[in-house]
Amino acid sequence: MAVRQRVVVIGAGYGGLRAVEHLSVERDLEILLIDANAYHYLQTEVYGYIAGRFDLHDVALDIRHWSYGFKHRNVTFILDRVTSMDSRTKRIHTLEGEYSYDYAIVATGARTNFFSFIEGLRAHSFGVKKLPQAYNFRATFEKLLYEKLDTTHERCDIAQNIVIGGAGLSGVEIAAEMGDVILKHTKSIGAGAQNIRIVLIDAAPTILPGMSRYVIERTQERLEALGIEVMRETFIERVDATHIYCKGKAPLPYVFMIFTGGITASTVELSQACEHNRIGQYSADETLRIAPDVFAIGDCVELHDTKGTLLAPTAQIAEKSAHYVAQSIERLRKGKTLVPFDASIDGVFVALGGNYAVGELWGAIRVKGVVAYMLKKFITKSYYWGLKLRLNTGYKKRSK
Ligand SMILES: Cc1cc2nc3c(=O)[nH]c(=O)nc-3n(C[C@H](O)[C@H](O)[C@H](O)COP(=O)(O)OP(=O)(O)OC[C@H]3O[C@@H](n4cnc5c(N)ncnc54)[C@H](O)[C@@H]3O)c2cc1C
Repeated sequence: MAVRQRVVVIGAGYGGLRAVEHLSVERDLEILLIDANAYHYLQTEVYGYIAGRFDLHDVALDIRHWSYGFKHRNVTFILDRVTSMDSRTKRIHTLEGEYSYDYAIVATGARTNFFSFIEGLRAHSFGVKKLPQAYNFRATFEKLLYEKLDTTHERCDIAQNIVIGGAGLSGVEIAAEMGDVILKHTKSIGAGAQNIRIVLIDAAPTILPGMSRYVIERTQERLEALGIEVMRETFIERVDATHIYCKGKAPLPYVFMIFTGGITASTVELSQACEHNRIGQYSADETLRIAPDVFAIGDCVELHDTKGTLLAPTAQIAEKSAHYVAQSIERLRKGKTLVPFDASIDGVFVALGGNYAVGELWGAIRVKGVVAYMLKKFITKSYYWGLKLRLNTGYKKRSK
């Protein structure tokens, strides 16, 4: 019997799971999926989780159950952290052991960059790139709402600021969702909630840098309607336990701060030298290889289209790069040459609190309000239900 070739996928995020799905149809492949966490974290839905609109099961799925759901039973999940890779011996080293591979895909994503030049930022702010951080932030937001509701609480009448550093997609979505909760539920949670002010700070002259004028302007209008204060061209210099110090501005008192102002790639050490860009992403060749038979996809690698345009790190691009690499591995197995990676962003939808969003598709279709929100929901729910179906199948198979 022919020996099955082994593909090891490191990271069970948006890119990693898509790569496994594409590769799993090849019954003569053995696929090992390794992740440091036992769950797939749906970061794109975290704005709703933080504000209490979605629950834990909406933003996290058990990877082990999901991995049992494949028809050819050729996918195995390993809960472990990869520490390094040796492309000469074709071995992957983890905290608990080591694994050989014929092909490997690094899909380790990125984490929040709490810039070290901003004193106190790491110690006093939350990120949302990891589930435990989002969980803490959700609990803190809820506690604050409770304190406003409880008229005997010493902080019920005091004006308090929630500050979000970084007005990119994630910062804007989180600010809007919290703003909407406060505005919509003032009647229920008491007038004290109106003393909570949400402040969005960014060093750039605009919110959502890099996005179209339509998306930026409609988003600004919505943020204003929700009562969110936006501070543009504002440089955070220092943070302590009670105040945020911005260049040329009076110290801003705050109760809690979330930082979404930058990411740094999570990478695995390679035996062979590989260049990294300024945010730590691998610099791959045009076929996304970072070493012989080792590919990188998603947020951990700098990606361009064939015209050389830099592609923003998004779930959408992580999935497209996963599809491309799965096809490339098949080409290599059939002795074919590889074609260069090419992809483009189809569109963007920004959730802006409640059933409201702003979006643009293929640079031509522009939508806002409930229609845009329904479209965004359709895209995210299709993704979620695709995973959930396989998870249900895997769960049943495992319980038999
Ligand atoms: C609030 C928010 C909103 C967003 N909204 C959108 C949106 O609307 N649309 C969109 O397209 N994108 C959005 N994004 C961006 C999107 O979430 C990321 O681009 C996407 O998660 C990248 O996918 P990935 O597979 O590269 O990495 P990830 O999804 O981050 O997955 C990486 C995985 O690798 C694992 N890992 C890391 N290091 C190791 C190691 N050494 N060993 C083992 N496992 C490891 C991690 O545990 C993780 O499971 C949003 C992000 C945030 C934070």
